[in-house]
Formats: sequence, C-alpha cells, structure tokens
Amino acid sequence: QLSKRLQTVASFIPKGSVLADIGSDHAYLPCYAYLHGYITKAIAGEVADGPFRSAKQQVEKSGLSHVISVRKGDGLQVVMPNEVDCITIAGMGGTLISNILENGKEKLENVKRLILQPNVGAHIVRQWLLNNEWELIDERILEEDGQIYEVLVAERGDPYRPYTQLQVELLLGPFLLKERNEAFEKKWTLEMKHLSDVIEQLEHAKTEEAMKKKQQFVDTLQMVEEALKR
Ligand code: SAM
Repeated sequence: QLSKRLQTVASFIPKGSVLADIGSDHAYLPCYAYLHGYITKAIAGEVADGPFRSAKQQVEKSGLSHVISVRKGDGLQVVMPNEVDCITIAGMGGTLISNILENGKEKLENVKRLILQPNVGAHIVRQWLLNNEWELIDERILEEDGQIYEVLVAERGDPYRPYTQLQVELLLGPFLLKERNEAFEKKWTLEMKHLSDVIEQLEHAKTEEAMKKKQQFVDTLQMVEEALKR
C-alpha cells in the first residue's frame, strides 16, 4: 500500500504522461503510477547507491523494467531533453527540490507539469516557481503518521495568478490558505508556537545580528497571525 502522501502526488499526474521521478528511492511512485494507469513510461532517478539499487530491484520485481528506466545520477541529469512531460520530486527539503530544478532548467522545456512534495521549506519551492514562470495550479496539505506534508502542482502560465497577497501566500500557500483544512490549522498553530518560542529566546538579544533576526521573526509571526484572523 503506497503512502497517502505519495498517492496524493500520483493523483496529480496527467493520464498518459511520461514521468521522471527524481529521488525515487524504492521507485514506489513510478511503479504505482504505471500500475494505476497514470503513465505510459517513466524514469526513476537516484543519486545514491543504495536507493538506486532498491529502485532497480523494485522495478524488476514488479515486472516493469520495460516501462520504467532506473537511472543513477544527480537530479535532472538522468533525463534527456524532451524525454518526459511530467516530473515528480518528493520527500526532500524545499531547498534541494529548488536546486534540482534550477540545475536542470534546460530539461524542463517540454515538461508540462511539475508535482513537488517538499517536506520542509515549501515557500522556497513556491518562490522558485514564481521566479521561473511556473504557475502554481493546485496544492494539498495532509497529515500522515504524525507528519504534515505539502504537495505543490505547477504548470507553465502566469506565475502571479494564484496570489493576492504575495508575501504571506508564498509562505502559507494560496490554495491551502483558502481551504484551511485540519492539517493546515495544525501546521500553522505549531509553527506560530515555535516562532513565539524563538522570539522569546531572543528577547535579550544584544548583537545587532540577533536583534535583526528577532525582528524578522516578529514580522513573520504578525503576518501569519493577521492572515489567519481573516
Ligand atoms: N521520493 C521518495 C519519497 O518521496 O518517498 C523518496 C524520498 S527520500 C527521503 C529522498 C531521496 O532523494 C533519497 O533516496 C536520495 O538519495 C535522493 N536524492 C537526494 N538528492 C538527490 C539528487 N540531487 N538527485 C537524485 N536523487 C536525490
């Protein structure tokens, strides 16, 4: 049984896609996507030896070696130009996801959809999409086994379209803020508590740098509180 997190990622793959799943680990996602009729072919990319071998084994065990090509390499280097039209990158930090996209920009030319699942730092991914003319078209937030996950879906378009208040929506997610489900409320209640704690710890900050940091946290907290009051 595939995790709810990865099932959510898979649910956004357009039917008939040729997929690249980068950082595929066991290749569970491309195997599931093929067996459920989302994709016709896939590349499972892995940079690390162990996960690369797990992916190869899983694909062979599932009898899918003819449709899922497991490749070892860094990020989008495993993809050839025009080879895929949908990319999934899941289960990593937002900075790493953004770096993988940034370093593989030339492979994105014919890609129609990105489905990204940052474990932390979703705002970094939203900012990358905004800077690179990808329009965020949908988002999900969900809780599984005590962890909260965000899934971001993007296509080429007007990158500013989903935003009415850029700064706070880059942080919270424009779609997630509109929906405000239980996982969202839980995440931001925890985040605000964490921010308050950090601010309190910096209460007697003396260095200029610490004082600047503290002010940033105060501003962020205020911005989030205001957005959630509406
Ligand atoms: N995508 C799977 C999921 O969501 O369950 C696996 C997530 S696992 C935590 C992250 C995987 O990304 C690891 O197997 C790691 O080796 C791989 N990875 C990290 N950086 C990578 C990169 N630059 N290129 C390809 N794979 C990478």
